[in-house]
Amino acid sequence: MLIVCAEPAVVESELGAGLLSCPSCRGVLARWGWARERVLRCAAGTRLLRPRRARCRACAGTHVLLSEQGLLRRRDAVVVIGAAIAANVAGDGYRPIARGLGVPADTVRGWLRRFAERAGLVRAHFTRCAVALDPELGPLLPAGSGVADALEAVAVAARAWVLRFGRAEAWRVASRLSGGLLCNTSSLFPVVG
Ligand SMILES: [Zn+2]
Repeated sequence: MLIVCAEPAVVESELGAGLLSCPSCRGVLARWGWARERVLRCAAGTRLLRPRRARCRACAGTHVLLSEQGLLRRRDAVVVIGAAIAANVAGDGYRPIARGLGVPADTVRGWLRRFAERAGLVRAHFTRCAVALDPELGPLLPAGSGVADALEAVAVAARAWVLRFGRAEAWRVASRLSGGLLCNTSSLFPVVG
């Protein structure tokens, strides 16, 4: 599983040019058909995505190339999940957040609970990402709580990404940097560096 750009044409050209590397061994990935279609719920409605499947030329492992618009095993767009996390850190409860986003309350509660459980891991991972992207970066200041610290680390890493690679949506960057695991149970974040 690898998180890639949201733009299918870019993914195709990167695959064709051998620019995507295997998350297991860093070998070159080549096209290997398509994964099953999946529905992504976005703020503006649902989108049907057909992720590319790729095979590593070195280790022969196959990987689904998930769009940075989503997260692994989440049906909602990362921008929507991120908005809920940011609103919660700002003090809103899950019910008003869910009403505002038009998402079931239990779904929002699940995201927030998972993010809170993982706040320490998320902070550590995104701090490493931020420093890898910008070695000049100063220390991150405490933001007042575990989840606020984690959100701050995500924001700082996303800013460092934009400074290095150009304009990008912060939560999509967060999806990419987390390997889709921002709000998952797995602690196996991608290796940084
Ligand atoms: Zn490989």
